Amino acid sequence: MCPAYVAAPFDNESRLWFQGLHAIAVLRVVARHIKQGFLLKSVERRGRGLRIDLEFQKPDGKIRIHEVKSARELTEVHRIQAALYWDGNRSHEIVLSNDSIDLVLPQEYLEKVRQQAETTRALLKDHPSEAAVTFHPEECVCRNCGNQRCPFLQRNQQSQAFKVGE
Ligand code: SF4
Repeated sequence: MCPAYVAAPFDNESRLWFQGLHAIAVLRVVARHIKQGFLLKSVERRGRGLRIDLEFQKPDGKIRIHEVKSARELTEVHRIQAALYWDGNRSHEIVLSNDSIDLVLPQEYLEKVRQQAETTRALLKDHPSEAAVTFHPEECVCRNCGNQRCPFLQRNQQSQAFKVGE
């Protein structure tokens, strides 16, 4: 847990660059699925406070939902983000993709993340004071965070400045 992730500000050029990379990854996922006989059902569909990158219908009729990343390396945080798409429907597949691979997340993993999300929600709701000072910094998330009130981020920045000054 952390005080609250805040996306670090992007300059326009970097934003366009990342949007372009993401769009290329999305096109590649669509192309390889259509080749395999999947039907594209939606792109960037909004719902339940989130936006689903891609939704396909498989040749057997089942629904496959994708979180698409432009990153080459898919991390645990990406897997958690994808798993949070799951609405509890066991006939839906949740998939984490980038431009070259598709990882179908196992059912047990989806259930574990759902359970952890519920526990986190309950802690935030029932014990907000405790939640406000309880956090586990995750390097792969914190490096893109711009929450200047976070004690971990400040510590991190100080140690970076110290290294630069060495
Ligand atoms: S730096 Fe990390 S721990 Fe701090 S608010 Fe951001 S994501 Fe949370």
